[in-house]
Amino acid sequence: MTIERALELLPQMRDSEWITAVGQVTAIYTDEAKEVFNTAISALEKRVPMKPLPQEMDIDGRAITPCGFCGEELPHNSLYDFCPYCGQAIDRRKDG
Ligand SMILES: [Zn+2]
Repeated sequence: MTIERALELLPQMRDSEWITAVGQVTAIYTDEAKEVFNTAISALEKRVPMKPLPQEMDIDGRAITPCGFCGEELPHNSLYDFCPYCGQAIDRRKDG
């Protein structure tokens, strides 16, 4: 299964409900279990590459590239596939 497909299914699973014998609609998962889903969803979302924010100039006039998720300065070394501060996967492709 791809990460994208898991990210489609996990929120549906988290929010699934059942109808009791007396017709009440009830959440299947407890609030704590829903937090487990939310934690897994957040972790998986960081695996989907995100474009950095547009380049900025720092106070010394140096071009920096901020992480698209946390805004911290990304290393210029394109061997980094993940933000070293928040773990967000980085999409360094130049197109679109
Ligand atoms: Zn980051």
